[in-house]
Amino acid sequence: MRLILLGPPGAGKGTQSQIIAEKCGIPQLSTGDMLRAAVKAGSPVGLKAKEIMAAGGLVPDEVVVGIIAERISEPDCVRGFILDGFPRTLPQAAALDALLKSKSLKMDCVIELKVDDAILASRIETRARETLAAGGTVRADDNAEALKTRLMAYYRETAPLTGYYFAHGLLKTVDGMAPIGEVTGQIDDVLGLVQAG
Ligand code: AMP
Repeated sequence: MRLILLGPPGAGKGTQSQIIAEKCGIPQLSTGDMLRAAVKAGSPVGLKAKEIMAAGGLVPDEVVVGIIAERISEPDCVRGFILDGFPRTLPQAAALDALLKSKSLKMDCVIELKVDDAILASRIETRARETLAAGGTVRADDNAEALKTRLMAYYRETAPLTGYYFAHGLLKTVDGMAPIGEVTGQIDDVLGLVQAG
């Protein structure tokens, strides 16, 4: 099963991806996590991405496409994977299609988590507070200023992907405003239909 989770920052993509990954026994591939690891390691990719990420902008397409191309070629992706935070632009989506085609593979489903803008800021604030309470380090981009930029990038660059995947017959939308367990239930229903079909 190869899935994409789409949605604005704070929609719950990471949370739901982890749950699906565990249930289906396939890896969650978060470009955000991979980039944060690269920043921490001080690798060339990390050096390129650090400032852009902290400000809430998008890392260049060729960088993230390169990361994903390598990652989906690893053995644990043979049975499928969940893309969390990729693709984020139309050129990334086109590159992913080409990548999969070159391996004679295809996407099974794209799940959009729909949420009201108004709650995103408070969700991000809660995430930052919970991270601090757990003794962790708050993400450099989990603040009001970077969130504004991330939301703008989402609406300008990423939101058009819903039209792209709708046109490809892959888009399913779930209500991301519901409690975590209910959202998981809606995703289960969608995946049940995809598997049956
Ligand atoms: P996330 O953890 O998905 O919220 O991603 C955190 C940050 O990493 C984003 O705000 C971007 O700066 C960068 N990033 C993650 N995935 C991508 C992507 N597919 N394209 C461009 N930038 C990305």
